[in-house]
Amino acid sequence: LVSRESKPDNTVVQVGDCLIGGKTPVVIAGPCAVENEEMMVNLACRLKRMGVRMLRGGAYKPRTSPYSFQGLGADGLRILAEAGRVAGMPVITEVTDVRHLSEVCRYAHMIQIGSRNMQNFGLLKEVGRVGYPVLLKRGFSATLEEWLLAAEYILAEGNQQVVLCERGIRGFETYTRNIFDINAVAAVKNISHLPLIADPSHGTGRRELVLPVARAALAAGADGLMLEVHPAPEHALSDGPQSLPPGDLAVFMEELSGAGAGR
Ligand code: PEP
Ligand code: MN
Repeated sequence: LVSRESKPDNTVVQVGDCLIGGKTPVVIAGPCAVENEEMMVNLACRLKRMGVRMLRGGAYKPRTSPYSFQGLGADGLRILAEAGRVAGMPVITEVTDVRHLSEVCRYAHMIQIGSRNMQNFGLLKEVGRVGYPVLLKRGFSATLEEWLLAAEYILAEGNQQVVLCERGIRGFETYTRNIFDINAVAAVKNISHLPLIADPSHGTGRRELVLPVARAALAAGADGLMLEVHPAPEHALSDGPQSLPPGDLAVFMEELSGAGAGR
């Protein structure tokens, strides 16, 4: 179902007024994790004015260490939804556990499946049944075939609104957090009709590399970007080193709208 042979024309996934896979690349942005209401509402309004089309923010965070900030949970969902409502943007957040799915669906417009859950087949099937748009991140050691078969699980349950997200894979290099797989962007657009979003924040793990890799991903055919932004990255509770300050994103959004995108 995910292959171009089964469906030659590109799939466009609509989330609120945001079209992913249409003519103009979309930018999804926000902090790695929802931290508090004031920060979220202020940031959301600022992002909206820049031309960002969807707000992201993790409430349930899949952290490597159990001692790291785990997210605000249900409070985080409520704050994210409120920030999106005030700013006038649809919101996306990650679901890490099938037990949270109905709660996440109550607050979010799009569901994110994180890299660590790409092959959580029980979760994929449930997400396929709820009929919400889904952003399926690539597992950090998944081949393209494994990733597309994970998407197939969701489509096979009757949910066609799937967007793929390349977020980098593990390699031997330690300078960057992951290796952003530019090959995958071009290849997936050939193999599949599903839209693809690039996440150079997790793909690089380094703020100064995020925008150059974002440009490369769009050049390779990505339908949009997911970017982590934080008003004070040095104080972020998660992923500060890869988070852009809002001013840097504003400059980039100007560049994109000059190229006919963004709004
Ligand atoms: C995230 O988007 O904050 C996240 C945890 O991403 P990934 O699943 O790609 O690591
Ligand atoms: Mn993150």
